[in-house]
Amino acid sequence: MKKIKIIGAGLAGSEAALQMAKAGYKIDLYEMRPHTNTPAHNTDLFAELVCSNSLKSNLIDTASGLLKAEMDILGCELLKIAREAAVPAGNALAVDRYIFAEKVTTIIKNTPNIKIINEEVTSFDNEETILACGPLISDNLTQSLLKIIGKDYLYFFDAIAPIVSIDSIDQTKIFAKTRYDKGDADYLNCFFDKIEYEDFVQALINGEKYEAKEFENNFLNNVNFTFYENCMPIEELAKRGIDTLRFGVMKPIGLENPETGKRPYAVIQLRLENINKTSYNLVGCQTMLKQHEQQKIFSLIPGLQNAEFLRYGSIHRNTYLNTPKIANVDFSLKNASNIRLAGQITGVEGYVESIFSGLLTSLIYLQKIESLPEVTISGQLWRYLTTQNDNFTPMNANFGLLPDLFMEKKNKKLKKQLLSERSLETFKL
Ligand SMILES: Cc1cc2nc3c(=O)[nH]c(=O)nc-3n(C[C@H](O)[C@H](O)[C@H](O)COP(=O)(O)OP(=O)(O)OC[C@H]3O[C@@H](n4cnc5c(N)ncnc54)[C@H](O)[C@@H]3O)c2cc1C
Repeated sequence: MKKIKIIGAGLAGSEAALQMAKAGYKIDLYEMRPHTNTPAHNTDLFAELVCSNSLKSNLIDTASGLLKAEMDILGCELLKIAREAAVPAGNALAVDRYIFAEKVTTIIKNTPNIKIINEEVTSFDNEETILACGPLISDNLTQSLLKIIGKDYLYFFDAIAPIVSIDSIDQTKIFAKTRYDKGDADYLNCFFDKIEYEDFVQALINGEKYEAKEFENNFLNNVNFTFYENCMPIEELAKRGIDTLRFGVMKPIGLENPETGKRPYAVIQLRLENINKTSYNLVGCQTMLKQHEQQKIFSLIPGLQNAEFLRYGSIHRNTYLNTPKIANVDFSLKNASNIRLAGQITGVEGYVESIFSGLLTSLIYLQKIESLPEVTISGQLWRYLTTQNDNFTPMNANFGLLPDLFMEKKNKKLKKQLLSERSLETFKL
């Protein structure tokens, strides 16, 4: 029986383990938690979602929805499990993070031929290996990896959003509604008038936050301090101008108050965190603010004046590699072809993309695919990760990756629909 070692039982590693087991491989699956933890994981479960509980849209005419449809065709295992753990979230696939991770863990534990080893891997050997350690890869293994790949890597930090308990939300000051009334009214909306909004923005700007030097640990000399644009701390966005939040994460459009019919000046949306509907995530409020400041400033949000914070926002290291430079088209390392990369560390961005990467690396390894159509998101993500690029940064699923349709009239909605249809038609061939 053929053997493979998988390092990391996160999203990519769990998907890869299930794919390799399905193909008859014997797997040694290494996971360092709970003995050694990462700065963001809270449990010893596999495939834990560390920040938002959303796997984004299910709609086929969105890039994430299309990627998921393509992954279904490719036989993805984790998406099936995610749907079993889904909580209501309009058109999005959001999960109860605990139930999702528990289901993945149980399935993997009950899969014959997967041996689980709860140990931190600190070095590499000559065995066939899938490296799926994620953006919070342990320092020891990073040092070993650097010895193989040289200095071609990037290194930065990320920020996560707070969670509040439902009991502590003032229901008289919020309304339930999904933007444009698409899907069920699964989001709670905290609405601001102009004065409340401006006070909130000012408080964010003035809030005391963790400075970079407090969490740089000098474990690498090359510190590139930057954020994912779509995980930018809210206080950083606030600094860009008084209206930045109102036209971004706090935009009120499509969120008219059902009682008055009026559109609020700005809105913070609260997204359901768990099936029991006991906790809500402050959408877009990822932050580097100190905890006492979060308590003070987020309590300015109408409806959250007495909020109980079940989890504060926080900051974390986030590592990815320059994959096009250091790896081959099958994600094997140029300097150690027995090691293949999977997950966020390859330079994909996002939960679904990380699962996709675990799926992709294993399907290539198993020689189940040699290429993917260029009109698909999956095909283009693969191409992006393996094409030399002087400005290589993490990439998520987006329609900009796809070859254009060159439509005469500009109709964005129709175009997305046609792009999706073209992709799925091609996949069926
Ligand atoms: C703080 C933070 C917040 C994020 N928020 C979001 C979000 O809201 N939405 C989104 O779409 N994406 C988010 N991401 C990005 C990304 O989607 C997730 O990090 C995702 O979990 C990556 O999947 P992965 O499988 O590559 O890594 P992970 O899911 O992190 O799995 C890696 C696993 O490897 C283990 N490991 C690490 N080193 C070793 C070692 N040496 N030996 C053994 N095991 C090891 C870890 O314990 C972990 O279980 C976030 C990332 C971070 C860091």
